[in-house]
Amino acid sequence: MSVPKGNQTFLRKYNRRLLVNLLETEGPLSRSELARRTGLSPSVLTRRVQSLLREGVVREAGKAASSGGRRPTLLSFNPDYAGAIGVKIERTRLLAARVDLGGRITARDAAQLDDPPDVSATVAGIRAAVDRLATGRVLGVGVCVSGHVDAKRRIDLYSPILGWRDIPLAELLERAIDLPIHVENDVNALSLAEHAYGAGRRFAHFVCLTVGEGIGAGIVLNGTLYRGAFGAAGEIGHTTFDPSGPACRCGEPGCLEVYASDRFLEAEATRLGYRGIPDLMRAAREADGEAHEVFVRMGRTLGLGAKNVVNLLNPEAIVLGGERMDASDLFLPAFQETVRRHAFPQAATHLEIIPSELGPDGFLIGGARLATRSAFSVPSAGGQP
Ligand SMILES: [Zn+2]
Repeated sequence: MSVPKGNQTFLRKYNRRLLVNLLETEGPLSRSELARRTGLSPSVLTRRVQSLLREGVVREAGKAASSGGRRPTLLSFNPDYAGAIGVKIERTRLLAARVDLGGRITARDAAQLDDPPDVSATVAGIRAAVDRLATGRVLGVGVCVSGHVDAKRRIDLYSPILGWRDIPLAELLERAIDLPIHVENDVNALSLAEHAYGAGRRFAHFVCLTVGEGIGAGIVLNGTLYRGAFGAAGEIGHTTFDPSGPACRCGEPGCLEVYASDRFLEAEATRLGYRGIPDLMRAAREADGEAHEVFVRMGRTLGLGAKNVVNLLNPEAIVLGGERMDASDLFLPAFQETVRRHAFPQAATHLEIIPSELGPDGFLIGGARLATRSAFSVPSAGGQP
């Protein structure tokens, strides 16, 4: 039976990505191991491997241990084959980096933005950063931004931190930059990076919780980022903590973010007569009991928010990240204690609570990862990587 031409092209692309994916996640592997895992015939496998070696996506990586006969040659994914550019839009800064295919940052760029940032100035800033960073083969640009991003329609629907609403960011960037463009919520991008290269590597189910100006969560279930039906999953910062509490910047009363983000710490610093959060942290570490109690309260509140997530999703781990991890020594003990005491034992007993491994770079690495995944993911009917 002959296969129609369109299907042949699809099959070729599918097989190629299947091999690259397998080598990236589980390599190095021998040709016979690849054949066993993919079910590809020897002739198809040989052709695909030859073309991947020729392109440089895959390289030979020594010999496997002998199992009696001739020692087979191992093949591995080549992280130097290309790079991708990750960008993070913050309230006053634009950060960008070129990242190799192994998740390592090879060059950086930063620029100031007005507060709040103007959309067209931000697009121009990203274009300038990409121009400076795009050396060699670049697979694409992944931009991460706070708030509610519809990654399918590639629109920043609503970002309370940036004051943006319905910004067709991907479209604006595509007009300015001649590379594939991806837009994603920043915490989702961080979760992808931690899953591929950091603290989430060991887990198929984990929640990446970020603390700082906002409180966000990225949810990985069954090894896949869960975005929700319309890209709005993970807004833990805007779950209700006290319905009679003060208004959150999202407009709702008493969100978790009101009681555990920087806004809370700043207000408490003022109340106790300190100049700001760094000052409050210093006092808490220098045995000012009242200042220390502020972080304990923050940890407990955050712990109750996390407890709800743990009871709802039963993850293997909570990976904690975000800029306020610089105060983790002050709030983490109360956080851990609260989660463990209040979540169902079935969900909490084996739960790991660990810090992000990639730190602030994780956002940029995750942005780049969007572009890499899109270039190498196995094509599916859904289209989204
Ligand atoms: Zn809110």
